[in-house]
Amino acid sequence: EKKLLSVKDLRTNFRTADGELSAVRGISFDLDKGETLCIVGESGCGKSITSLSLMGLLPSNGYISKESSINLNGTDLSKLPKERLRSIRGRDISMIFQEPMTALNPVLTIGYQLREPLMLHQHLSKQKAHAKGIELLTQVGIPYPEKRMKQYPHELSGGMRQRVMIAIALSCRPQLLIADEPTTALDVTIQAQILDLMDDLKNQLGMGVIMVTHDMGVVAEIADRVMVMYAGEKVEEGDVESIFTNPQHPYTRGLLNSVPDIDDPSFELEAIPGSLPNLNEEISGCRFHPRCPFATDRCKADSPKEYELHSAHRVKCWLQEEVEIHADDRETIPS
Ligand code: SF4
Ligand code: MG
Repeated sequence: EKKLLSVKDLRTNFRTADGELSAVRGISFDLDKGETLCIVGESGCGKSITSLSLMGLLPSNGYISKESSINLNGTDLSKLPKERLRSIRGRDISMIFQEPMTALNPVLTIGYQLREPLMLHQHLSKQKAHAKGIELLTQVGIPYPEKRMKQYPHELSGGMRQRVMIAIALSCRPQLLIADEPTTALDVTIQAQILDLMDDLKNQLGMGVIMVTHDMGVVAEIADRVMVMYAGEKVEEGDVESIFTNPQHPYTRGLLNSVPDIDDPSFELEAIPGSLPNLNEEISGCRFHPRCPFATDRCKADSPKEYELHSAHRVKCWLQEEVEIHADDRETIPS
């Protein structure tokens, strides 16, 4: 069985003073063992909320609706009690957060923070966990690991801290690693080093990786498949090759034109004027229509269905209908 994760109709809402907000609006996708899926889109598109939903780490006013399922090896995570979910996190699923300083405890040594999950989840003795910690630091390319074990987070550089986070995340050999902008704050050289390392470990452990990023350079480097999100919806999904060489959704094409930094608020998307709608803004039809240069009356009225170009490439846009009609025409032309 190759399939690791199957997410069906994920809907994540928030209760706020202004009413219900829908941050994720019915997303479905699968992930195989040893596969890397990159989730891309602008800040606020729902990509981080999607990863937090998978981990069961939503803020207290957030919840996943009943019709959703998050199936990891036959267990629906969205229906598990908090304690069961906590034990699965750290054993079967790990997450690498955006900001290493907020995720590492500043008053505990690196060694303590590496040993603790190993002792808790793998029931290693303190000595064995210590030896394993040193081995992990070596694996993530940290020199003088014995010395580092005794140090506190502030004694390490940003790149080192992020590698420590990766070591902790991988310490329990998770089946699924969820990484949210893990290298955004790092300089380019260290970023490349860490992406290489994640890729190696993915191949060695056969673990599935979900990487949330706004950086199409990172996507090109590590993705097997790409999911593009807009305003809480999946608008396109495909293998990395198809997305880069044959993007179909107007938003995806805009994203690819807008490299290098779509998350920089001062940066105007050249091909896509306007900005993401607010979460509580109801938009009729296609949620991208206010920004889409190809929008028709139909786009304003009806939400597009999802079209499948070939098995690995899906697009939610009415423009695909014309493509389909033309394909039918071709078939009816006698040769
Ligand atoms: Fe643009 Fe219409 Fe496609 Fe939406 S469905 S992306 S508005 S062409
Ligand atoms: Mg984010």
